[in-house]
Amino acid sequence: MSQDEFQIIDRYFTRPIEDQDVLLGIGDDAAVLQVNGPVVITTDTLVEEVHFPDTLSGDALGYRALAVNLSDLAAMGAEPRWCTLALTLPSADDIWIEKFAEGFFNLADRYGVSLIGGDLVRGPLTVTVQLVGTGQTGHLMTRSGAQVGDNIYVTGSLGDSAAGLALLGEGKNDASAAHQALKNRFLRPSPRVAEGLALGGLASAAIDISDGLLADLGHLCDSSRCGAVIDVEQLPLSAELLALFRLEAAQTFALSGGDDYELCFTASPAQARAIEQALELLETKVHLIGQLTEEPGVVCRRAGEPFRTTSRGYAHFEHGH
Ligand code: ADP
Ligand code: MG
Repeated sequence: MSQDEFQIIDRYFTRPIEDQDVLLGIGDDAAVLQVNGPVVITTDTLVEEVHFPDTLSGDALGYRALAVNLSDLAAMGAEPRWCTLALTLPSADDIWIEKFAEGFFNLADRYGVSLIGGDLVRGPLTVTVQLVGTGQTGHLMTRSGAQVGDNIYVTGSLGDSAAGLALLGEGKNDASAAHQALKNRFLRPSPRVAEGLALGGLASAAIDISDGLLADLGHLCDSSRCGAVIDVEQLPLSAELLALFRLEAAQTFALSGGDDYELCFTASPAQARAIEQALELLETKVHLIGQLTEEPGVVCRRAGEPFRTTSRGYAHFEHGH
């Protein structure tokens, strides 16, 4: 590594760490943590032109790289604690790196996550974050714990982010509040960390919605060896989405558009009241959208009638990436 790169790490990524469980942070060959109990680890890579457009600003990318990982830990019901950051940059542009670090630490600070190490190399713009969290035995959620007859819920609203990305792609400079809100959902997703922690003892299974509801609920069903029926009328759609798109287009974004970073989870009907109360405390909306069934596959109903959906959400290799 060149002197240049040490300076970048020093200037932009090395900050005091108050967490007593970090025995050694940035600057040695590896970081050292003190951990008791279950450790939950996830990693996600974002590649320019594959996961984000080349017009995305540095701070939006810094934010997003951590947000997608926070969302994965949220879906496990774990508490995020420490992360590493592997950055591949085409050039050492100080202003860009400063913005990137700003977006990254903005979110890290909000969730109490310490950056404890990483890597910095030259190449096509790629960001990999590894996030480590802690959990409590019996309070972690997996994709595989759901039972036939369980209710299916989603937090927040669906489809905004995919609609926002579509609007960003059009490049129109519409300053309306609805337009801005949708774009912001794509640029600054809010991972449901507190919700995941609250659902830990209540949900039977959970997944975060990154590739689209149909695709991700499909993964949960496959892992739990069951199927699902969902009613499209019950999909939570924001006022902003409905202001800018027809109902069917909005529902399609909600079913198949990616990047929502909401939680989709299942629970026994006996937990219905406890779930409503837990999320009410957090002031987070939750919607019951369907039930788990014996028959494999995800079936959508409109006015009680099953209908075929063609798009199953975003699947990387099917699109030739
Ligand atoms: P090595 O050559 O042993 O892999 P590096 O020279 O790559 O170590 O990194 C030196 C130190 O800086 C290590 O502690 C590493 O974790 C840290 N580091 C490197 N890049 C980053 C980064 N982008 N963000 C945070 N820490 C980093
Ligand atoms: Mg290295």
